Amino acid sequence: MKSSGNSTTFTVHDRLAAAIAPNTNLTVSTNPSTTPNATCSITLSTSTCQQMMTTNTNLMPAGSLSSATAASCNIAASTSTNQHQDLVNLFECPVCFDYALPPILQCQSGHIVCSQCRQKLSSCPTCRGPLGNIRNLGMEKVADTILFPCKYQTNGCLLSLMHKHKLEHEDGCDFRPYMCPCPGASCKWQGSLENVMQHLWLAHKSITTLQGEDIVFLATDITLPGAVDWVMMQSCFGHHFMLVLEKQEQQFFAIVQLIGTRQQAEKFVYRLELSGNKRRLTWESTPKSIHEGIQQAILLSDCLVFDGATALLFSENGNLAINIIMKKTFYRCSCFLKSNIYLEQVNAHVHYISDEQFREDYRQLASSKNTMEDLLGLVHKEIDRRRTLDADAQKRKEQIRREYQPLHPELYTLQSRFLSENFKEICSQLKSSNDSIKKLGNGLYSMPVFTKEFCRQLIEELRHFEASSMPKGRPNTMNNYGVLLDELGFTNFIDDLRNQYLNPLVRTLFGDEYMGDTGLDSHKAFVVSYKIGQDVDLGYHYDNAEVTLNVSLGEDFEGGDLYFGTMAKANRTAFSNFIFVEHIPTFGILHRGQHLHGSEPITSGERYSLIIWLRSSSKRNQLCPMCWRKSDCLIAVDSDSYGDGMTNSSEGN
Ligand SMILES: [Zn+2]
Ligand SMILES: [Zn+2]
Ligand SMILES: [Zn+2]
Ligand SMILES: [Zn+2]
Ligand SMILES: [Zn+2]
Ligand SMILES: [Zn+2]
Repeated sequence: MKSSGNSTTFTVHDRLAAAIAPNTNLTVSTNPSTTPNATCSITLSTSTCQQMMTTNTNLMPAGSLSSATAASCNIAASTSTNQHQDLVNLFECPVCFDYALPPILQCQSGHIVCSQCRQKLSSCPTCRGPLGNIRNLGMEKVADTILFPCKYQTNGCLLSLMHKHKLEHEDGCDFRPYMCPCPGASCKWQGSLENVMQHLWLAHKSITTLQGEDIVFLATDITLPGAVDWVMMQSCFGHHFMLVLEKQEQQFFAIVQLIGTRQQAEKFVYRLELSGNKRRLTWESTPKSIHEGIQQAILLSDCLVFDGATALLFSENGNLAINIIMKKTFYRCSCFLKSNIYLEQVNAHVHYISDEQFREDYRQLASSKNTMEDLLGLVHKEIDRRRTLDADAQKRKEQIRREYQPLHPELYTLQSRFLSENFKEICSQLKSSNDSIKKLGNGLYSMPVFTKEFCRQLIEELRHFEASSMPKGRPNTMNNYGVLLDELGFTNFIDDLRNQYLNPLVRTLFGDEYMGDTGLDSHKAFVVSYKIGQDVDLGYHYDNAEVTLNVSLGEDFEGGDLYFGTMAKANRTAFSNFIFVEHIPTFGILHRGQHLHGSEPITSGERYSLIIWLRSSSKRNQLCPMCWRKSDCLIAVDSDSYGDGMTNSSEGN
């Protein structure tokens, strides 16, 4: 999607859309219920004593555990819990079997009952005597000093807490049953996360589900008066998301929640967008987990909020289209700030931990021309550049999106006609042997990719951009000339090429070993140019990619063959068996990222190469290809960026 000014060309050819009728049966409740549902009762008996985890000290002085962070829980195992359990049992409410916590009320004979049950009772459930408002201060004082097991102990929660932290914990306790995620209070279903989808399918059959990461949700009849809500499901990345649009007194609230845990929700970012009539309104955030629900977020306006008048500006015949784009949150490996720092002056990749380590490890690189101090200065400069790289890139991208006037706006959306007929045939047949695919060596293929016309227009567009006053990032430290396609606005184009064509093709040619469970789910795409008088060649290196597609766009040039050596893990200095590959315009070379390679100098003319580093998050979550380790520390990047293609793979429940 390209925008010029604030007008938007909305392409819907690759989106799914559904019309959703408002659901007027559900009453919208704006009061978030903070009281844990009391219908799930916990019966404590002596048989559960042994499972109970508590502190070694049965009686804790009040205050020793008062800090909400450190002290709200205690899972230390105990060998002598019986005495403590007996004490805790004294607080059991005879009606609901939950604990009676301060303020603790008793009857005239001293029988206690919890405050929730008290409200529903007129006489003592134990002795039938009258229930006044007599507090039991002695019990309350004891309650202040002991730890109570979480209400969801029988569901598996092992925490015991001071009573004042108990409600707060239980509200967010991972073992709390899930409530029906539908808005409104009419459905009382609750159960485990695994059963939520089944419940929705059985009890809320009318909810439409759309597949895909980029969909359009059409809310019909938005002018209906009163409290109304619209609900739809989106299914992508192996998860189900629920989109809710609520209307309350001329205010609209749109929000997305994940049918999953809070931890799982952290792995995604959604964007809601209203657009049309030269206007655009967007909202971007992390989805809520249905465990947390959306009522609190709506109350705090932590969602897309707009009023009835704004809704009308974007609506057509009383129907409002909301575009929902779901993305994974991507990260960089922390080695980005330490490893693979290229020093052009000495043509070497270095690793930096400290000045001391650097002096020690790279003594041999220093010379009278490049002193150790010079080299250290360059390394520091490069690390500083990398520290702000994502934020700087985001700024450039936004400026380009706002101000750049493309020469060929139609190029920014992938069209089948841009692709060579042979390439389309290769991708539809998906056989490793096809007359149009040339196998040049192990894991090394050449094939036609784009049409000549597309390559010509793309070069024109790139020159137009180079000549503009727009800010320009450079692909990497090895290329001084080139354009980052994701900054220029080609992310959707490359996403489509990757998803529709390259994923199936790479799976066929290279196998699952290079794809992982997620497939190639992100990329970095750029065009490098080689020209006499500027960069003419590229040193021997490997790419930060599972698989790379390198397409020669042209123009007229001589020389500049690519050469391939061994895999990066093997002996880097083995100079035997180089494979030289002529880089023919419109043709692409598909190779493994770790296949060491370089580019010979061009001897005349100018050459443009489109390079797409294809990445699989499941592969690189296991092993970062730049530091050869499982990344222990991830750096979050802006939601618009793919970072190094890692995702947060920690599996929580
Ligand atoms: Zn009770
Ligand atoms: Zn009584
Ligand atoms: Zn708990
Ligand atoms: Zn329900
Ligand atoms: Zn490369
Ligand atoms: Zn790394």
